[in-house]
Amino acid sequence: MENHMTVTFDAISENEAFARMVVSAFMVGANPTVGEMDDVKTAVSEAVTNAVIHGYDKKTGNVMMRCSMKENLLTICVQDFGKGILDIKKAREPFYTTKPELERSGMGFAFMETFMDSVDVMSVLGVGTTVTMTK
Ligand code: ATP
Ligand code: MG
Repeated sequence: MENHMTVTFDAISENEAFARMVVSAFMVGANPTVGEMDDVKTAVSEAVTNAVIHGYDKKTGNVMMRCSMKENLLTICVQDFGKGILDIKKAREPFYTTKPELERSGMGFAFMETFMDSVDVMSVLGVGTTVTMTK
């Protein structure tokens, strides 16, 4: 089965739960296990939270989530049009955070890598960030 879906929503923390629900509804047709669903929902949460908190940092903006399913391969892109990441390699290191004051632990990318099969980060300063994950 092949299927595609794109959704755009406001960069507000309320939409983290929305994004989780949308991605579970999208993937349920492929008969995932409960564990697989949880993994994907966690990874999507982390990516959307990052877009809201780091990408836009209280400014208004949009987050775009694109999902595709092809021969049981799920691909998810979470894109923001916010400030971008200066050093992607550093940002992906476990425990690295630019917001320690918000009790961030710097584990978002580490979780995405643990729960998904691949995680790719593209970012341009002042243009935005796209996180592409597969499972
Ligand atoms: P945690 O996810 O544990 O709450 P965190 O968000 O700081 O903490 P990561 O999710 O691993 O940790 O992200 C690491 C760092 O990468 C962030 O602190 C931030 O500087 C940067 N970053 C991540 N996503 C984005 C984004 N969409 N736009 C701009 N910067 C980002
Ligand atoms: Mg994070």
